Amino acid sequence: MTKVSDILGEKGTKLVFIGPDLTLRQGLETIVDNKVGALPVKDASGDILGIITERDLMREVYDHADLETKIVGDVMTKNIITTRRDDSIDTVMEQMTENRFRHLPIVEEGRLVGIISIGDLVKSQLAHLKHPMQNLRYYVSGNAA
Ligand code: AMP
Repeated sequence: MTKVSDILGEKGTKLVFIGPDLTLRQGLETIVDNKVGALPVKDASGDILGIITERDLMREVYDHADLETKIVGDVMTKNIITTRRDDSIDTVMEQMTENRFRHLPIVEEGRLVGIISIGDLVKSQLAHLKHPMQNLRYYVSGNAA
């Protein structure tokens, strides 16, 4: 059974986050510059306050929000749902599907240690499919793939 820790081990713990008082423009820049889809929002003491994603920002842009004055804390989702290293990937997939979001911060002893995205899940599932598929192809054709 694949666990969150297996995916975290592969992608590493580099984590991009943002503070609640920064403007939406700065949030947008942070997302674009770091090529990520979501930013956990932390206060100065490191407590997690929420999450802001590219979808949240897209909605604000569509609504013509003032990106220079509106701040991350106004827009972030405060009731953040998290996962733990020991959770199974199946549980994570269920959580993402039920809640209709694509990012889950990973928390350990109240501390943020990483983030898992739907892209990470697809990559991990593909890797697990590849080996049996190659074996099957070899079995059917008699040739190595
Ligand atoms: P996403 O599909 O991840 O871009 O997120 C869709 C919506 O769900 C946005 O409003 C996010 O702020 C929110 N969201 C994303 N991830 C989480 C999470 N782990 N906990 C709570 N809300 C989230």
